[in-house]
Amino acid sequence: MSGVLTIDLKALAANYRQFRALAGPDVAVAGVVKADAYGLGAEQVFKALWQEGCTEFFVATPEEAFALRALEDEAQIAVLGGLWPGYAQDFLQQDIIPVLNSLEMTQRWQTLAQQKNQSLPAILHFDTGMNRLGFGAQETQKILEDKTHLEGLDVQIVMSHFACADEKDHPLTAHQNERFAKIAAVFPGARKSLANSPGLFRAQDYHYDLVRPGYALYGGNPTPETDNPVRPVVRLDVPVLQIRDVKKGETIGYGAGHRFDKDTQTATLALGYADGFLRSGSGRANVFFKGQACPVLGRISMDLTSIDIGSLQEKPQPGDMIEILGAHQSVDDLAEAAGTIGYEVLTALGTRYRRSYV
Ligand SMILES: *Cc1c(COP(=O)(O)O)cnc(C)c1O
Repeated sequence: MSGVLTIDLKALAANYRQFRALAGPDVAVAGVVKADAYGLGAEQVFKALWQEGCTEFFVATPEEAFALRALEDEAQIAVLGGLWPGYAQDFLQQDIIPVLNSLEMTQRWQTLAQQKNQSLPAILHFDTGMNRLGFGAQETQKILEDKTHLEGLDVQIVMSHFACADEKDHPLTAHQNERFAKIAAVFPGARKSLANSPGLFRAQDYHYDLVRPGYALYGGNPTPETDNPVRPVVRLDVPVLQIRDVKKGETIGYGAGHRFDKDTQTATLALGYADGFLRSGSGRANVFFKGQACPVLGRISMDLTSIDIGSLQEKPQPGDMIEILGAHQSVDDLAEAAGTIGYEVLTALGTRYRRSYV
């Protein structure tokens, strides 16, 4: 018996349409489908977005890009992680665009451009405050002062990435936008792209020519201080394996992590940290039966989780399904209970669930 992960591709498509409406006719909306589309299945998500008219996709690694290319010849596919040694030929052959994050990567692409005697498409990523990937301050200055650093490249998009757009009015967001605007102005022929999901919702100023939502496509709240403006995409239900009567003073689970202060009933669920039910939710998270909250008891194990059903009017039986994610608990809610973010909840969803795409 296994849990059922329901992925609502219609809701995903509706979210994509919402972003198109928000961005307006002059701004393209790419799909960020890295990490197996945030754990939801890159192939299914890609096809759903493609059907909605999404033609531009961002992934993190070359292998993710090649997997998408096998699905569709016409899609524009870019690799955020950039051009690693040994991949240039494959990128060219499979029409994959590298996001160039450093001069070293740039030179790798230029070497191939020279050999082939043709200019090669590229996306330039300038770091404006994230300090993670992208041309740093010195490299940026070099490039802006002397464009011969970009010889052989057809610079299609100039981009940067927000560090704090999920926090309302964080000053770094506006600073990054200012820095980006200055850099982007030096590339009049290229399209410009800055916004992730939160950036898309924060301000029209951040939209430029192309927005790059990921998390919000999958139902995550891009503006955590407000109600979620997007539709939920994921639902997760897992079966009860066993019901137990427990006595006051007994303990439950590894490490005897919870001691009962009264007699009650528990249900043991086919759900554990190997399924992405994060162990940090031990003793903190809730799950739901017919809309009623059931607290997680003690430590979450690899394959099993125990919950308290003592206070429920109507009790589940073995085989009944318990809601982990759904109408009563969003991805963001569960993340908060586990002391993390919804991005981690989604990408941790394991491979043991039966997946139902609706
Ligand atoms: C992951 C990523 C995105 C999408 O971010 P979300 O917060 O999931 O919308 C956009 N741009 C870059 C560079 C990324 O790494």
